Amino acid sequence: MTTTTDLVSYEDALASYDPVMGLEVHVELGTKTKMFCGCSTELGQDANTQTCPTCLGMPGALPVVNAIGIESAIKIGLALNCEIAEWCRFARKNYFYPDMPKNFQTSQYDEPIAFDGYLDVQLEDGETFRVQIERAHMEEDTGKSTHVGGATGRIHGASHSLLDYNRAGIPLIEIVTKPIEGAGERAPEVARAYVRELREVIKALGVSEARMEMGQMRCDVNLSLRPHGREKFGTRSETKNVNSLRSVERAARFEIQRHAAVLNDGGTIIQETRHFHEDTGTTTSGRVKEEAEDYRYFPEPDLVPIAPSRAWVEEIRAGLPELPLARRNRLVAEWGITALDMQSILNAGALDLIVATIDAGADAASARKWWMGELARSANESGVALDELAITPVQVARVAELVLKGDLNDKLARQVIEGVLAGEGGPDEVVDKRGLKVVSDDSALGTAVDEAIAGNPGIADKIRGGKVAAAGALVGAVMKATRGQADAARVKELILEKLGVSEG
Ligand code: ADP
Ligand code: MG
Ligand code: ZN
Repeated sequence: MTTTTDLVSYEDALASYDPVMGLEVHVELGTKTKMFCGCSTELGQDANTQTCPTCLGMPGALPVVNAIGIESAIKIGLALNCEIAEWCRFARKNYFYPDMPKNFQTSQYDEPIAFDGYLDVQLEDGETFRVQIERAHMEEDTGKSTHVGGATGRIHGASHSLLDYNRAGIPLIEIVTKPIEGAGERAPEVARAYVRELREVIKALGVSEARMEMGQMRCDVNLSLRPHGREKFGTRSETKNVNSLRSVERAARFEIQRHAAVLNDGGTIIQETRHFHEDTGTTTSGRVKEEAEDYRYFPEPDLVPIAPSRAWVEEIRAGLPELPLARRNRLVAEWGITALDMQSILNAGALDLIVATIDAGADAASARKWWMGELARSANESGVALDELAITPVQVARVAELVLKGDLNDKLARQVIEGVLAGEGGPDEVVDKRGLKVVSDDSALGTAVDEAIAGNPGIADKIRGGKVAAAGALVGAVMKATRGQADAARVKELILEKLGVSEG
């Protein structure tokens, strides 16, 4: 087993080799029923309560295709710029594992429903990288095994295993890239950006929530190295079921360093599956890779071929929503921000929240400012995602409106947001309860201004002498005395008036 100490540094690995990657992403569709039977797909139900003779693989049971599953596959294919097969079939992928009671998985083999596409993904610096798509095909999920009695939850050391077939037969789409070449040192970043863009596309299509942490989307990372200048690909390893964006990037990076170490030692990479470990950021050997021949694929005799009419495909294409990259590019232009700004918005998980805040009436600059400033900070401090904060886009829009009307200044607005987050009510309620209002009334401000002038005679003299910029210090004193509630612009005017100087 290769351990971390054997690794070659990332820089050294890239100095000698070019990485080639292949990403296989499985997405669980959000259909109400399973792919080949009418069983519910709802999560979190008691084990084996959502099963029937078909998904349990009973002899004689006959599958029927879920039309929404096909439509979702076509949507994904079109969004990935793929061709849609005029005619294709399901195939049996034969192997035994207890989580698969039929002893074969219904999948597609050499006749995928979608093929030859691409997805443009955006890197951290805003640059675009095109990932070629080999195919997207339909298949079904397996059941879930739980290994009991061991320390690790793995089968090794377990005393027995439990099987839940509720997941067996839930529709999956597997999306496979062509070999990704030419990314160089950015290969791990490309892998992460690809999976993220794919997730955004899937969500925009409404075919799945694509939540990686819930296993609705998982990625196998194939990786090989070849010496600079060599055409032929090296042997790949396949790190299975990586289930977060960060892990996809780390797994690719680790494999680059591990492969380089093996190759530098004059060793050979064996084609095998590997497991990624979140805690250490490393991979360990799984099983030696089987070949397609081992599965004895053959066309599924119990299901009719799928022949989506061109009219239907075009109807689906016409109904596709605006896709995420196009939408981001549009918003970059509309908001007058840079691609880099957009990357930070995306990284912060703020895009939909900002758009919703604008939809609720806020201007784009304010919506961005609050979500990316105060609220991002707050989410960060309490270790939650932005959309888990106890404030809604409508409430943020209301805060922005109060600032725009001059009822609140930024400092007060931050207190209002703090109050909303603390569960004190909506923005207006917090304003009332905490008595937060900008004071712009001259009689109320006059005393505070007089006191500030009297308390800072030196500064007052400078201003009288024409140094208008020094007024800032007095404005600060008044803001402090009024606990931030004074209208700063009016305070400055009053100071200058009282000292007999004009702004210009
Ligand atoms: P399998 O089902 O055996 O994993 P697939 O062809 O479905 O094979 O997927 C393999 C993935 O790895 C694809 O994305 C493919 O582009 C990619 N790939 C193939 N050969 C290599 C290689 N030598 N190095 C890196 N990636 C590769
Ligand atoms: Mg594979
Ligand atoms: Zn069923």
